[in-house]
Amino acid sequence: MKVCSKCKIEKEDSEFRKNKYTKSKLQSYCKECDNRQRRINRSEQTYRRKKALLDARGVTFSDPLGSRRNPDKGNQLELQCSTCKRWLEVSTFVRRDLSYSSRGHDYTCARCKTEKLNKLKESQRI
Ligand SMILES: [Zn+2]
Ligand SMILES: [Zn+2]
Repeated sequence: MKVCSKCKIEKEDSEFRKNKYTKSKLQSYCKECDNRQRRINRSEQTYRRKKALLDARGVTFSDPLGSRRNPDKGNQLELQCSTCKRWLEVSTFVRRDLSYSSRGHDYTCARCKTEKLNKLKESQRI
C-alpha cells in the first residue's frame, strides 16, 4: 500500500505506475491522478495549437476558459473575471497551478477577491 502524493488516498501498489527512478520503484502519484494530469496536458496542447492557428490568421481568440488577446493593447492577454465579468489584464489574476485552475490563473480578479474577503471579515465581526 502507498499513499498518493496528489489525492492523498492510500492505494494498492498496482494502482501506481512503475518508475525505476524512485526509491519505491513506483510513481509518487496514482494512475488515476496520472491520467488526470495527462488529460490536462493534452487539452492544454490542443488549446495552444488551436490558438496558434487562429493567431496566425489574425483572429482574436477567445476560448471557453475566458481568455483572449486584446489587439487594441498590443495583443495583451486578458482574462474574464467570473464575478464582475470584466476583461482584465492577466496580471490582475493570481497565478494558479493547472491542476487547480485549467487556465493557470484564478477565475476571480484580485479586486473581487478582496471584496469577497472584506465581506467575509465583516460578517464574521457581527
Ligand atoms: Zn491519486
Ligand atoms: Zn472581478
